[in-house]
Amino acid sequence: MSSTASASPLAPLHMIDLIRKKRDCGSLDAREIGFLVTGAANESIPNDQLAAWLMAAWIRGLSLDEARTLTLAMRDSGEKFSPARLGKTAVDKHSTGGVGDKTSFLVAPLAAACGLAVPMISGRALGHTGGTLDKLEAIPGYRTALTLKEFEAVLLKCGASIISQTSTLVPADRVLYALRDRTGTVESPGLICASILSKKLAAGLNALVLDVKTGSGAFLRKPEDSSYLAALMVATAEAAGTRTVALLTDMSQPLGHMAGNWIELAESVDLLRGKRPAENEDLRELSLILAGWMIHLGGQATTPESGYSRAEKALADGSALRVFFAMVKAQGGDVSVFDKPGYHKPGATKVVSAWESGFISSMDTTALGWAVQRTGAGREKAGEPVDPHAGIDFHARRGARLEKGQPLATLYATSPALLAEPEEILRQAIHFSTTPPQKVSLVSRIFTRASAEAHLRDVGSAASSH
Ligand code: URA
Repeated sequence: MSSTASASPLAPLHMIDLIRKKRDCGSLDAREIGFLVTGAANESIPNDQLAAWLMAAWIRGLSLDEARTLTLAMRDSGEKFSPARLGKTAVDKHSTGGVGDKTSFLVAPLAAACGLAVPMISGRALGHTGGTLDKLEAIPGYRTALTLKEFEAVLLKCGASIISQTSTLVPADRVLYALRDRTGTVESPGLICASILSKKLAAGLNALVLDVKTGSGAFLRKPEDSSYLAALMVATAEAAGTRTVALLTDMSQPLGHMAGNWIELAESVDLLRGKRPAENEDLRELSLILAGWMIHLGGQATTPESGYSRAEKALADGSALRVFFAMVKAQGGDVSVFDKPGYHKPGATKVVSAWESGFISSMDTTALGWAVQRTGAGREKAGEPVDPHAGIDFHARRGARLEKGQPLATLYATSPALLAEPEEILRQAIHFSTTPPQKVSLVSRIFTRASAEAHLRDVGSAASSH
């Protein structure tokens, strides 16, 4: 049993007591969570204590109440954006993190091209997953740290803007996010909920679409765990006044064929330019489905299906591409690099061939994500630069039949010394079989407010721990 020195509501709080309380399976109350979040945001609590608390929270789990209180405290840890002056409904999408997950570069311009405002506050690489901001910074000049005034100006001009947390905008998430990335404390439903929703609620959204990943590359791989996360986030965001749905989507293989920084942007712009290679049909389809929901929740389509058709039109007529390029330019980025084939200059390249013949039966997509990070596309320490040119181009998808010696993937690494580890990971993570695997649906479940609340009632708050 824990005993803390902070039993009285007036007693001063000490971080050591909150760590011990969580370690010993206690639940933090609103005052304690407020103390922790304020101390994270203003950096008065040292990182070692925050990291210890995060690990205790990862192991013991957060109750529903703790997750909700943490979300709101983190939302309120800095200034907030008000979309009121944009004169448009503000919608957004956020994913719980995957490998090759680049839908933000498609859905933000698609929804903006359909008359909505998309004020998107994003994150950097987290654990084995890539970060939207790291990818955007592969464009020379692109600025992710805008003031709220600059954010509003880009939104007024282009309809979409993608920026980072800063020391004044959701500062608690900026600190905790970077700490979780390097302390193995990412995969916790309560911590993911608070991290994602603090950013989304601070953006003053009218509506939000959550892309909750499930499968081998998701932070929460099992459907029951990802469903809990989806329900927790929908119910929390709805209770805070934002209309929200969550789609449970497949992450049993990388999304699209590129995973890295620049190469993911290049793949996205090819799609925005109307190219339609078979190997990224999943990326195109998921982006249109997510954009369809954004357009529907934002009131520009009566159903998600008619939202999908509107998004498809904005893709086909080039209006989404125009929004994307306008946004990049407005944030200081040089769009001419998208027309320079020589811009992609990795330090070392290696084609990895299939080591046996057969169908690709399964992938450990989390391991593949680590392989991508270790080409140089990710960071070992907080604040380190990432290599914009590193990453992996996957040439074959789950279910494809390959002959031994056929190209399976191309590695782009910072230096020849960084090729060996990702190649070894690939060899362990990709499995072949003599028969094709079962197909997996791209979207397996949808949570609305009612189904989220019902799900939480069914599973009970006990599911919030691992
Ligand atoms: N995206 C976030 O912003 N935070 C998480 O914890 C996971 C994904």
